[in-house]
Amino acid sequence: PRPSTNLDPPFYTTCHDPSTMNSTARANATFMMLARNSDVSGAVQSVKSVQAQFNQHFGYPWVFLNDEEWSEEFKMEVGKAVGEGVSVTFDTIPWEVWGFPMWIDREKARRKMKKMEREGVMYAGEESYHHMCRFQSGFFYDHPALLPYKFYWRVEPDIRFTCAIPYDPFLSMSQHDKKYGYAIALWERGNTVPSLFRKISDYKARRHVRTTPLWTALMAPSYAPWLIRRFVLSLLRNRDGKGDLWNMCHLWSNFEIADMEFFRSSAYRELFRYLDEDGGFYYERWGDAAVHSLGVAMLLRPDEVHWFSDWGYVHGGLQVCPKEGLGCGCECEEGGREVETVCLDSIRRTVE
Ligand code: GDP
Ligand code: MN
Repeated sequence: PRPSTNLDPPFYTTCHDPSTMNSTARANATFMMLARNSDVSGAVQSVKSVQAQFNQHFGYPWVFLNDEEWSEEFKMEVGKAVGEGVSVTFDTIPWEVWGFPMWIDREKARRKMKKMEREGVMYAGEESYHHMCRFQSGFFYDHPALLPYKFYWRVEPDIRFTCAIPYDPFLSMSQHDKKYGYAIALWERGNTVPSLFRKISDYKARRHVRTTPLWTALMAPSYAPWLIRRFVLSLLRNRDGKGDLWNMCHLWSNFEIADMEFFRSSAYRELFRYLDEDGGFYYERWGDAAVHSLGVAMLLRPDEVHWFSDWGYVHGGLQVCPKEGLGCGCECEEGGREVETVCLDSIRRTVE
């Protein structure tokens, strides 16, 4: 057998009663959910799942952000789902970070959005979705409601955790020097980000940013023949100056736990500013998952990134369920569509 060089094992491989794990130590951390008033039922369902599987034992605060004023109904229903004794903040997003920046040509943006919509690019015709992706890529971590915190756990409406989480992932990440954690890695839709990889790669070359194994894991070589069949067009466009290809593998950001010091670092801020000035959040439909992933791959060491292999997670009709021997009390969805693991495997090979 190979010597064990696993840079990212699960934090725990056995289950325990959370109350025995649950010291009084807490990380400086919060949940964050971005939602609309119309998301109320999905928000309640997500909150209930997180509270039941984890937070009833740990009591971390919740922050809810909206680009509009919260409805009384949302605050009441969601407040009830969070329950007693947990701090809850309902806040709004300043218009300065939710809307076209002044350098964007709005006519051009609307034209491009229409065109992408006709071509079937998911959400491309929805102006607010573009604002959302830009906010989640470059501004959430500076929101006054999140500024006091170091770690955040992102929650979306209509998600479910299917295993018990009997330990504190914020503390574990802290102890193991992890900056970014994810549950699902899968393929980005190439037509949302035709020029993103090229631009980040140019930036990386210009700034002489060193290539990390994680960056390499998102490049195509070992899967090229298989991928070319699958993503011919997107691959052609997602080639950088050296001819490297992004294989479109990315980390799903609708669940992520991050040390926001990473996003608040000058390296990430500069990368975001460069992308923002390019305009691809509007002229294309860059998603925050692709931006976070390429940022993480470019700027973090592989051992600073954690895969929650012991967690079960469901969203948008996809699920991951832990392998035999991992996870506690999992109740994965019968017949739920499992995420294929080719993309994840290419990342795992860099840390195992
Ligand atoms: P998907 O996961 O990419 O299919 O997109 P979602 O519809 O789940 O949106 C992603 C996240 O952004 C969710 O947390 C939504 O509640 C939130 N979101 C999307 N559009 C808006 C918007 O216009 N306003 C607000 N406040 N939240 C939004
Ligand atoms: Mn979603």
